[in-house]
Amino acid sequence: MTREAYRRLLDATLLHLEGLKDLGVTHVPVRPESLAALQSVSPPRTTPPQRTQSTTPSATPSTTPSAARAARPAPTVEDPAPEPLPVPPRPTLFVSPPLSLGERIAALAALKTRALACTRCPALVASRKHVVFGTGNPQAQILFVGEAPGAEEDQLGQPFVGAAGELLTRILTAMELGRDQVYIANVLKCRPDTPGQLSGNRKPTHAEMGTCLPYLQEQIEIIRPAVLVALGGSAIEGLLGRSPGYVTQIRGKWLDFHGIPIMPTFHPAYLLRTQSALDKRRVWEDMLAVMERLGLPVSARQRGYFSKAA
Ligand code: SF4
Repeated sequence: MTREAYRRLLDATLLHLEGLKDLGVTHVPVRPESLAALQSVSPPRTTPPQRTQSTTPSATPSTTPSAARAARPAPTVEDPAPEPLPVPPRPTLFVSPPLSLGERIAALAALKTRALACTRCPALVASRKHVVFGTGNPQAQILFVGEAPGAEEDQLGQPFVGAAGELLTRILTAMELGRDQVYIANVLKCRPDTPGQLSGNRKPTHAEMGTCLPYLQEQIEIIRPAVLVALGGSAIEGLLGRSPGYVTQIRGKWLDFHGIPIMPTFHPAYLLRTQSALDKRRVWEDMLAVMERLGLPVSARQRGYFSKAA
């Protein structure tokens, strides 16, 4: 790795860690294998010191941010052209033991308090009515992930209310589950602002979702669901940190979030918009796959839903 690439990786990592710190994250667990991989990346050699040995910097990834910045070699004319910015490491989750119910309730309440006071996105803070944290069972096996609050969610402070929320409730009822048995949250906790618009919602940007993702990561870390269901392309993008392509092509195929399986499927609002019987059936097939993965009983009646729509 060149000195410039190393410096840019260090910058990106520090920026990421400082962002987590701003959100109140105090610990970032690291798997032993990740630590070993980090340690194998040695800082590039600088030009041998001209004066004394003490001027040679040592900028390993474990150095404190201020010390690392101080140790960063100054750019010189010999530096090669910058390389593409390496992707900063994402935090390793789920290394601590699962929490008890009481601990989960307390941890979620503390996290919610932090989220309600969050001001990291000034434009969204200025326009939001509520921070929509998430709701449901702290011991849920399934965590449904949406993209961001819409106008009704912003008004009420609850995720998935309104017509799309009612459809999600109907899907859950068909699975013989109640909303109190699952957990429902969005990647973005504040409604995307819509300057100049009197109605309608806007898709969250990649940057907005990346800024807010640590809250969802902590929710997942606390709840430890067995399965995530990502509703719509933006939710999938927010979870994975990259564009997933067309939902039509990836739905129904298991993805991974730090070892937790993700079932990608269509957003209920999309089903309401298109009224496509085929897509409704696809969502149901995805929910059957979730039930099977969790070992939930699937009756012949449930298996036969939408069979006439084929
Ligand atoms: S969207 Fe998330 S990160 Fe941005 S202000 Fe709201 S809670 Fe904070």
